Amino acid sequence: MRVPLHTRIADGLARLGALARFHENQKSQAEGLSPLQARALVVLQRRRGIRLGDLARELLVTYGTLSPAVSSLEEKALVTKYVDPEEHRAVNLELTRKGAAAARRVEGWASELLAPPVADLDPDEAATLLASLLKLIRAFERRGTITAARMCFTCRYFDPKGGKGARPYFCNLLEEPIGEANLRIDCSEHEPADTDQLEGRRQA
Ligand code: SF4
Repeated sequence: MRVPLHTRIADGLARLGALARFHENQKSQAEGLSPLQARALVVLQRRRGIRLGDLARELLVTYGTLSPAVSSLEEKALVTKYVDPEEHRAVNLELTRKGAAAARRVEGWASELLAPPVADLDPDEAATLLASLLKLIRAFERRGTITAARMCFTCRYFDPKGGKGARPYFCNLLEEPIGEANLRIDCSEHEPADTDQLEGRRQA
């Protein structure tokens, strides 16, 4: 039976996802954490002062699922809560020093697992893979399946036609042309593009 290309790609991604979950489970168990708690620590390390609701959206879980997991992190002295200075009814979360150390230990699991085989790709293959992954993530964002991946395609500083040659894009914050190999996911400088910018890119 001939299996369509898109189905085979989906199967390959699902296998990598299952492998990643297995590895993540092992790593978080070694820290005495649930996988959700381990992922929460990693996000908190990248986003200081994030609200519980925003953290839940980023982790693709409900507020009700995340709340007890975060309370447990607080009991373990890995996380502190404080009132948002701009919205007094909102509670922000931040890592303690102990939580930051735990986050650093668990954060490396993805690159430990995936970086060696990815490093075997030649540079052009790797750049194409990165661009394809970003497009897939963007497609999931458009469908509302994932939120806030903070990548170039959704950033106000991204100019899709501002570069040339092998670096066809331009980052107006870094003030430099960027190619497929330079595209970022979870960029700390990312600021969301407005609706007009996103629509213009969609039509480009
Ligand atoms: S600020 Fe970061 S996410 Fe935005 S375009 Fe530049 S590199 Fe990409």
